[in-house]
Amino acid sequence: MTKFTDLNLNPKVLKAIEEAGYESPTPIQAGAIPAALEGRDVLGIAQTGTGKTASFTLPMITRLARGRARARMPRSLVLCPTRELAAQVAENFDTYAKHVKLTKALLIGGVSFKEQDAAIDRGVDVLIATPGRLLDHFERGKLLLTGIEIMVVDEADRMLDMGFIPDIERIFSLTPFTRQTLFFSATMAPEIERITNTFLSGPERVEIARQATTSETIEQAVVMFKASRKDREGSEKRRVLRELINQEGEAVKNAIIFCNRKTDVDIVAKSLKKYGYDAAPIHGDLDQSQRTKTLDGFRDGALKILVASDVAARGLDVPSVSHVFNFDVPGHAEDYVHRIGRTGRAGRDGKAITICTPRDEKALDAVEGLVQKQINRLDNPVKPAPRKAAAKDAADAPETTDKPKPSRRSRSRGGNSEAAAEAQTAAPTPAPAPEQAAEQPTTKAANKSDRADKQDSQKSGKSRGRGRKDDRRDDKVVGMGDHMPSFIALSFDERRAS
Ligand code: AMP
Repeated sequence: MTKFTDLNLNPKVLKAIEEAGYESPTPIQAGAIPAALEGRDVLGIAQTGTGKTASFTLPMITRLARGRARARMPRSLVLCPTRELAAQVAENFDTYAKHVKLTKALLIGGVSFKEQDAAIDRGVDVLIATPGRLLDHFERGKLLLTGIEIMVVDEADRMLDMGFIPDIERIFSLTPFTRQTLFFSATMAPEIERITNTFLSGPERVEIARQATTSETIEQAVVMFKASRKDREGSEKRRVLRELINQEGEAVKNAIIFCNRKTDVDIVAKSLKKYGYDAAPIHGDLDQSQRTKTLDGFRDGALKILVASDVAARGLDVPSVSHVFNFDVPGHAEDYVHRIGRTGRAGRDGKAITICTPRDEKALDAVEGLVQKQINRLDNPVKPAPRKAAAKDAADAPETTDKPKPSRRSRSRGGNSEAAAEAQTAAPTPAPAPEQAAEQPTTKAANKSDRADKQDSQKSGKSRGRGRKDDRRDDKVVGMGDHMPSFIALSFDERRAS
């Protein structure tokens, strides 16, 4: 097995590694470090948790230790898709470069330009940045990228998800052709392949197979769920989720709920909050201070339930959790392994429960194929209502839509906010409430009178008057059959005269 001491790293870096308690390099490190130290380009196909950050920071520090920074011309650049990841990479530099004299600057949004400008002016060895903020600095003329010797693109697939590829291409073109490029991505989408073919030269390709095993300490279960009606799937599914959380009771110390869609992240978090659960969402569209606050709260135990999308949760260093709930079966089977790996860490027990709709059954097959076992089926904690009552309930209290609604007022007019609608479905026997039953005849009557109003207005033709009281000539215009509009009968001379 390769040892760190076999890798030609700077002795001061080796000392820091030893202090960090690492015994041996991970496969991505063993594969990438030697090539990176030789100055070659590296294409690392690896996800978070494989030790990929050290696989580029360790050789970078070793190479940068020889040489000095010049004002406004950073010597190396690490691009990260999010501020959190950029901050984590910066922390890694602090850990591994603590015995080496190197300067670094973190260029991320939410921090004043002034401070960052001052750091760049002094000259930095390592610049860690998100693409947007880096280009902002560049355009303000405060930064030159012509001194870049090493450029790292971290989590390229996530950059693609977030629409940063044009920025990345631009940044590549601003750096010298002779630079060394270390490029990391968890997956190789065609667009990523294109970028690597364009900007990397003869890279050492190091591919780490995705983790396909799940820890034995994680108890896994799946609940098969079919909505009573398609338009009620969202609210009924959220109810199943609540019941699953309730069933686990005190055992839920903290949990992450994963949703496939960003909109669901928001809806699920909002709905849980309405029902009194301590939950908050995290996804890419939230503003930075909100994301930081939510994550800090979750890390320090102030927040119990984090509702997340895969993209937002990927790469984030969150503590081990007692439970993972998959509101949806993930579309990529590997994401399942990654999601549930958030629980049951370091030999601790954890539980992962997934909700599977008929639509998700194929994805579930893929997950079971990957983890090579059948996941235990749990009974749906929400018992189906007796047929008659369920049908009546469905007819009386339809859920309008599951998407964020533009018109909240129109929904609440009927006294049917989302929580109220869900509360109705949450009743053990969802029979219609007395006021709903009473509502039906009223609604019918209203419809009847509405129809009558329409007929009346058609008969009288009043509704066509558009308020022009003096325009009696056109009162007769109801068609071109028996009723000839009066203006047609007028001669040209008369018309001119009128
Ligand atoms: P990363 O994939 O870079 O996010 O790293 C995941 C975690 O693995 C981090 O907490 C690192 O501190 C840790 N780590 C990185 N390299 C090693 C290693 N060789 N041995 C043990 N832990 C490591």
